[in-house]
Amino acid sequence: MTDHVAVIGAGFAGLCMAMRLTRAGVTSFTVYEKADDLGGVWRDNTYPGAGCDIPSQLYSYSFAPREDWSRAYPGQPELLRYLHDCADAHGLRPRIRFGTEIVAASYDETHRRWELRTAAGRVHRARVLVTAVGQLNRPRFPDVPGRGDFAGTAFHSARWNHGHDLAGKSVGVIGTGPSAVQFVPRVARQARTLRVFQRSANWVMPKWDYRYGPVHQALFRTAPGRLAFRGGWFAFCDTVLYSAVRGGRLGKAVEYLCRRQLRTQVTDPALRAKLTPDFPLGCKRVLISDDYLPALGRDNVELITERVTRITPRGVVTADGAEHALDTLIYGTGFTATEFLAPVTVTGRDGRLLREETWADGAAAFLGMTVPGFPNLFLLYGPNTNLGNNSVVLMIEAQVRYVLDCLATLDRDGRGEWEVSPGAFAAFQDRVQEALGETVWQAGCDSWYKTATGRITNNWPYRAARYRALTRRPGRAAARPATKE
Ligand code: NAP
Repeated sequence: MTDHVAVIGAGFAGLCMAMRLTRAGVTSFTVYEKADDLGGVWRDNTYPGAGCDIPSQLYSYSFAPREDWSRAYPGQPELLRYLHDCADAHGLRPRIRFGTEIVAASYDETHRRWELRTAAGRVHRARVLVTAVGQLNRPRFPDVPGRGDFAGTAFHSARWNHGHDLAGKSVGVIGTGPSAVQFVPRVARQARTLRVFQRSANWVMPKWDYRYGPVHQALFRTAPGRLAFRGGWFAFCDTVLYSAVRGGRLGKAVEYLCRRQLRTQVTDPALRAKLTPDFPLGCKRVLISDDYLPALGRDNVELITERVTRITPRGVVTADGAEHALDTLIYGTGFTATEFLAPVTVTGRDGRLLREETWADGAAAFLGMTVPGFPNLFLLYGPNTNLGNNSVVLMIEAQVRYVLDCLATLDRDGRGEWEVSPGAFAAFQDRVQEALGETVWQAGCDSWYKTATGRITNNWPYRAARYRALTRRPGRAAARPATKE
């Protein structure tokens, strides 16, 4: 049987696609999910303190508002529950094939359909393929020798070992990104000692998290109240925080807040010096936390800025030759974010391989969604659609709306394929790369936004509002997608 649509992944994006398909009356679709549960990053990241650093009003679907968020920045359990509730409200569970990992997708030109092969060797077919596999789902480990030699307990932040009690342990954490700043304060409270291995100091802005009281929740029960909160946060992120990633004047206000927080929360000048970034604000994802910097000032915590050079059975060796003995080693070292769609092997027209050939110099797609030579393939949260300053859920919703419009056009016109023209694709890439050249991400810092050669493959360089406008009508988008008969 050939489905109309196949969706790979049941995280924020895949569920959004499935909900909108259901609401649009499309019944012939299947969501393939490699794990046994839905939720994507919110299923995988269960580390202590895991939560969203974008306000819940904005980090949720506009068409599935929740009235009873407990706080401005909800924790992982609450976000995962939200996704479960959304799936249940739309009757999605029967549509999701859990425990089904798609390892290959190839386009069958004769029958104009995609063939999906699972890890178990089964084949499924669909006319249209929508990938929703995220950018941050494959843990990355530091490329230092000896990782397998460590005799203690080691794990990645996205695969937290809840069976391992940190009480009384000597713990090391490698990495100081957005994940680490959330769990370091919790680990610091449990462990006997904590050594945080920092490669680069980053900007930390206040989170100012707070619980929602009865007044907030009464407001959220009304449409105008929800709209005011969502709109307010959207405007703040798309102006003030956007200005920060473009090196604009409003961004200076954020820089001031970061500097003030560092000054007031870290009184030891030596520690403060170690925590002072040497790159412009926003070059890496800004850290948002009220309790990370104070945690580093605790008596049982040491911030180590010497490079990690080796891992031994006893612990971690740094560039000064010191060996730091540890019971537990936690990797807060992020994800292989520039390897889009990995490890699925995607083959388009004429047997062309997406990642290995078309994307040999880095992933790219028209509006982050379509690629010439790969008809009826749509990527959600694809290349250059991550935001450093706003909620990616906004981007995902815009993409889902775009895909639905394309599907409607295909059905209406009786066309067999939707495929972006090479010209529109190339013109779009030129514009995006030129705009990326004007952002702070281009400044001298490494981040998961860039490939090893420095090409920025992950981020959207404009405001979120612009993306939403560009994707509003597929046929009238800045560059018109071409369809072939
Ligand atoms: P990340 O931002 O990629 O940070 C990885 C950290 O590991 C960096 O501090 C990096 O140092 C360090 N590192 C990597 N290799 C190292 C090595 N060999 N030696 C020492 N340090 C090393 O990963 P992440 O913290 O997991 O966050 C990834 C993304 O997930 C975020 O940017 C964000 O988009 C998302 N996230 C979101 C939330 C949320 O609340 N919304 C929470 C967590 C994560 P350098 O800085 O020197 O490279």
